[in-house]
Amino acid sequence: MSAKIYYDSDANLDVLGGKTIVFLGFGNQGAAQAQNLRDSGIPNDKIIVANRPDSYAEDAKSKGFNVEHNFANAAKQADVVFLLIPDQVQPRVFNTEIAPNLKDDAAIVVASGYNVFFKLLNFKPSQDVVMVAPRMIGSSVRSLFVKGKGFPCFVSTEQDGTGKALEIALALSRVIGATKAGAIASSAREETAMDLFAEQALWPNIIMLFREAFSVLKEAGCSDEALCYEMWMSKEPAEIFERAAEDGFIQQLKHHSTVSQYGQLNGALALDGTAAREHFKNILYNQVLNGKFQKEFSKIEDDLEKEGDENPLNILYKKSEASELGQAEKRVRARLAGLL
Ligand code: NDP
Repeated sequence: MSAKIYYDSDANLDVLGGKTIVFLGFGNQGAAQAQNLRDSGIPNDKIIVANRPDSYAEDAKSKGFNVEHNFANAAKQADVVFLLIPDQVQPRVFNTEIAPNLKDDAAIVVASGYNVFFKLLNFKPSQDVVMVAPRMIGSSVRSLFVKGKGFPCFVSTEQDGTGKALEIALALSRVIGATKAGAIASSAREETAMDLFAEQALWPNIIMLFREAFSVLKEAGCSDEALCYEMWMSKEPAEIFERAAEDGFIQQLKHHSTVSQYGQLNGALALDGTAAREHFKNILYNQVLNGKFQKEFSKIEDDLEKEGDENPLNILYKKSEASELGQAEKRVRARLAGLL
């Protein structure tokens, strides 16, 4: 399956003419996207940053943006609203303060599929809902734009209330700088599935593999210092992934020694992936796509703001750091403090 890729030439900016564009949030993505959009020629008096009165609002003001602290007032003026506040607070803020005040034909833009895929936001059928989801942190969205370069991005229409949702999505993608390198046609489902799968299946396995490998090598007599450096502190894994992005997932192996290439290719082919595949499918279908994780997560969301052991994330950190790997790293870092 190959996806359609949209470039600058696919986007018609006329569709944004005269529209008032509201950025809800001026954090990682909000600050970057609002500045890119303005530098692409959208007049400053057509841009409103909606933010509570604090340092984010001050930052927006210092960059010359019109800031509105009252979200209802901002929503009333919006023809387009970018939801660029953290995903976990979007349903409450959007459904109570933004949605009741939005125009019937407004376009709502999300940068992540989660709340749309799990139907946590209340839209009117007459409104447009689009996803413009950069695959980069905000500072890179901005710095690549300033250098005249594009950045990878997913784009989709999730609800086409006006019949112009795709046109609007592409025009917005272009003014934030996303169609320069090509924006990939995607969907909230695809983005959410891949994101949550990586977080709940792929990376937990990678963490587990490092944890177990550490213990096996330690038992075989390797020192904590040598292991920490060998496995990650030398930044070799980071370099491997950098090369994978540049040269190819498999082709990057050619930068390694012949012994290493042989060992890695032969070892990976010899491993039977059946059990891993079943495990991955189970997570994807029975935890991610069926909404089980989303329901469980929404029950603990409020606890994630708490302090100490009342916060489930703190408990997970404590347990993870109790592993042999976690304890050893703490000792090594304390010993090498100042040298790292
Ligand atoms: P941030 O954590 O940087 O958002 C901070 C902004 O949200 C600030 O303006 C903050 O203002 C506001 N905010 C936080 N809590 C609240 C609240 N309770 N009520 C109102 N405003 C609030 O968000 P990101 O930029 O990281 O994420 C925004 C969206 O972009 C998300 O959908 C995310 O998934 C997506 N995304 C993020 C990427 C990233 O690099 N981080 C990459 C790609 C997509 P204040 O606290 O002052 O009210």
